[in-house]
Amino acid sequence: MASSATNKTVLSKYLELDQPNGKVMAEYLWIDGSGEGIRSKCRTLDFIPKHPKECPIWNFDGSSTAQAEGSNSDMYLHPCAIFNDPFRQGNNRLVLCEVYKYNKKPAETNKRNSCNAVMEKAKDEKPWFGIEQEYTILDGDGHPFGWPKNGFPGPQGPYYCGVGANRVYGRDIVEAHYKACLFAGVDICGCNAEVMPAQWEFQVGPSEGINMGDHLWVARYILHRVAEDFGVIVTLDPKPMQGDWNGAGAHTNYSTKSMREPNGLAVIEEAIEKLSHQHVRHIKAYDPNEGKDNERRLTGLHETSSIHDFSAGVANRGASIRIPRQVAEDGYGYLEDRRPSSNCDPYAVTEVIVRTTVLNE
Ligand code: ADP
Ligand code: MN
Ligand code: MN
Ligand code: MN
Repeated sequence: MASSATNKTVLSKYLELDQPNGKVMAEYLWIDGSGEGIRSKCRTLDFIPKHPKECPIWNFDGSSTAQAEGSNSDMYLHPCAIFNDPFRQGNNRLVLCEVYKYNKKPAETNKRNSCNAVMEKAKDEKPWFGIEQEYTILDGDGHPFGWPKNGFPGPQGPYYCGVGANRVYGRDIVEAHYKACLFAGVDICGCNAEVMPAQWEFQVGPSEGINMGDHLWVARYILHRVAEDFGVIVTLDPKPMQGDWNGAGAHTNYSTKSMREPNGLAVIEEAIEKLSHQHVRHIKAYDPNEGKDNERRLTGLHETSSIHDFSAGVANRGASIRIPRQVAEDGYGYLEDRRPSSNCDPYAVTEVIVRTTVLNE
């Protein structure tokens, strides 16, 4: 692909140039009008920002990102979190932003604003999240990376946590992404090869409150950039291949302070009871198209529950909510909501979970 085909040895000559003291390249990132895509653009700062509030508010052309009409197209970028830039290194930074409209109201796909307010209200309960981000690597032609061009790989079985050139496709991308996330300061906590070949997972967490969304969005940005370098594409589509192939989710592990304390299991069970009454509302919040994307994945097959039913169980990977076996044995810990789609907005997911289980809204 064109982006990876340019000569990286030639590039390195320029990347090695000294950067003047005090000059910082700040890559501003934001979520576009699809609620799934990430955009970014760069500017020079003449100081090293320590806090997002020190970074200037900026703007962009919302008519080119499905966020505004051409006649009223200026949108505002409000910096909200800063990470180290693993691509440019040095003092350069990634600056995650919230998007606001001309009237200073949050853009439709700015889910962070209301999420932040909810996390602030619930902060005494110290909500922790850990999201398992599944994704699929595609070749430039849109076909899964490493799959035969005129057919299919052997059936699922040997690929999950697999080892060997005939079992996993694309480990270079996974390794590069993990290191880059650690460098950036993202709370990445693990990764593994998934059930469908060319499908992988990384986990972020446990992260408290609004940090979950911030860290996962930056981890996704880094993943797309790494894939760009290697000339492959990452898709977060929840069911990239029809047929007997697993889909991709974003299992959301969740606990509050009282769930993590002795007798926390009773609080976990109470939370599950509340979740059982809000299934439809949660499904709507668990992908950017109000359940339409997840419909293809949550079939009741391939380690999923049906999109139409709510269920819960210890160690049950065919349920909406799973209580990990260790948690049932310890009597405290966390629950796993297996419903969120791989392309979910983690701000929307974590917000609705806290609204339902802590704020009783
Ligand atoms: P699975 O067995 O479902 O594949 P993983 O090991 O992939 O689980 O992911 C577990 C996730 O749970 C991680 O993201 C981790 O950060 C998160 N986690 C662990 N403990 C807690 C907790 N107490 N509260 C919330 N999340 C937690
Ligand atoms: Mn996992
Ligand atoms: Mn998984
Ligand atoms: Mn899981």
